[in-house]
Amino acid sequence: LARLYGPITTLSNVHVEIMTALVSFDRVFEVLDLEPQIKESPDAKPLPRGPLSVEFDRVSFRYPGTSETSVASLELTPQSEVAEDTQVLSEVSFRAEPGQMVALVGPSGAGKSTLTHLVSRLYDPSEGSVRIGGLDLREATGDSLREAVGVVTQDAQLFHDTVGANLRYAKPEATDGELEEALRMARLGPLLAQLPNGLDTMVGDRGYRLSGGEKQRLAIARLLLKAPSIVVLDEATAHLDSGSEAAVQEALAVALEGRTSLVIAHRLATVREADQILVLEDGRVLERGTHEQLLEAGGLYTALYRTQFAPQSR
Ligand code: ATP
Repeated sequence: LARLYGPITTLSNVHVEIMTALVSFDRVFEVLDLEPQIKESPDAKPLPRGPLSVEFDRVSFRYPGTSETSVASLELTPQSEVAEDTQVLSEVSFRAEPGQMVALVGPSGAGKSTLTHLVSRLYDPSEGSVRIGGLDLREATGDSLREAVGVVTQDAQLFHDTVGANLRYAKPEATDGELEEALRMARLGPLLAQLPNGLDTMVGDRGYRLSGGEKQRLAIARLLLKAPSIVVLDEATAHLDSGSEAAVQEALAVALEGRTSLVIAHRLATVREADQILVLEDGRVLERGTHEQLLEAGGLYTALYRTQFAPQSR
């Protein structure tokens, strides 16, 4: 009888394990994709592949719900004031050519993160359009958009799992060889050599502790595996030690090469390299140009440069 029950018990354990795995898999996608509430159009087309342009055409945006509050207060507040209060982006236009880097700078609350949210279509513009490779995002399939755009945020999210599993969220079918190659390209070769169980080493709060710079490079390795056409990057503000900082910069240079990128810039090296810098204030593009052109103009960028970027070079 035991011979009969043994396999059944094992099977039901397997079932429990699968169910647990499914639950955590769902959660992962909640975190990674920030699933937008936006529906796909019935005749949506896939975005083209390869290097793609990103274009904002007179994009204005207010967060859903914020205009309703203003309607309620319309009787008390003059309309012009209401509009100013809730409009987060106003008539933003620019074009990043395939492979170009556009840096976004501006004071806190200027709308930089919001602008990047529209690229991954977390929201649609209230007016105007966002186009990738010439296709309006409202006409693009969700799958092709998720494939085309890779997002790296300030705090790289690591799951309490192995290094290998953390990387495979980006490319489930990747071989161990591919994962190791991505780690080396992201300047994590020395870490890989040091991990007690290689790719099977658990990381996260209760696992092998990674430094801030290593976490960022792991996020870059993930990006390399995903290999998107477009990269949206929010550069970390937290200061790393100079060795780590240099390694992150090198890894980023590899990851951004040949890709169109939109970078919320906090580093001098980034704004210097950008093909175009957009200086945002109150949701508007106040100035645009290269680092040299903007410094010469002596406007808001120059002020930001003095307070935000120049001190780092000392
Ligand atoms: P920071 O440099 O501080 O990150 P930012 O330039 O990225 O700022 P955003 O985060 O895009 O600016 O915010 C622009 C404006 O939109 C702010 O006034 C902010 O309060 C508002 N905002 C941001 N997210 C939401 C949201 N989910 N709902 C409503 N308003 C929001």
